[in-house]
Amino acid sequence: MSNTQITGKVHSIQSLGALDGPGVRFVVFVQGCPLRCGCCHNPDTWERDGGTAYTPRELLEKALRYREYFGKEGGITVSGGEPLLQPDFVRELFSLCHEAGIHTCLDTSGCILNEKTRSLLAETDRVLLDIKYTNDAQYREYVGCGIDTPLSFLAYLNEQHIPVTLRQVIIPTLNNNVENILALKALAKAHSCVDKLELLPFRKLCQVKYDKLNIPFRFGDLPEPTSEEIAWLENA
Ligand code: SF4
Repeated sequence: MSNTQITGKVHSIQSLGALDGPGVRFVVFVQGCPLRCGCCHNPDTWERDGGTAYTPRELLEKALRYREYFGKEGGITVSGGEPLLQPDFVRELFSLCHEAGIHTCLDTSGCILNEKTRSLLAETDRVLLDIKYTNDAQYREYVGCGIDTPLSFLAYLNEQHIPVTLRQVIIPTLNNNVENILALKALAKAHSCVDKLELLPFRKLCQVKYDKLNIPFRFGDLPEPTSEEIAWLENA
């Protein structure tokens, strides 16, 4: 039976998103993240306190208003922040979506794998897994966990045959090299659950958010990649 009393902390909602998962999607950005990625463009989601409280059913009802735009491929995506910090809430939301026939997608760093997040994954149709770097040293330096954490998560997704889109933000001077891209492609190839690989350009529009929060933007001095560079790496 559904527990409709759970509430989640939601940072913001994008009614019709085209960038976070297949098709057109209702995207829920949740509040709170345990990591501190140097390239993060949502530092305003970091704090676990705050956000707006929603029940899963309230969000489902909002999402249903946009259902006609979802088409065959679209649905709902929960992003963040880090959705794995609120596993009961997101699982309940996804469970309600499934009852309503809506496709569910989880955008995550893969930083927590326990009984509750496994239970959430059982209601997840696709995972957008952000693999920030392909080596442990950069993970520890620029993310705040070891690379074994997302790799264990990916291994579990593979075991469960949950379709995965692997994503990486391309950051000039740090991971915009062929060696990294080949390692990323090898990772995708080694896991049959991965059917898509996306290279996303590092962007600095978020500088204003850092300034407003009075938090230093660690990668604020790094250049943004050009679209030609991304295309070149895609073909590496
Ligand atoms: S996991 Fe995502 S939300 Fe959290 S710090 Fe990294 S980029 Fe930002």
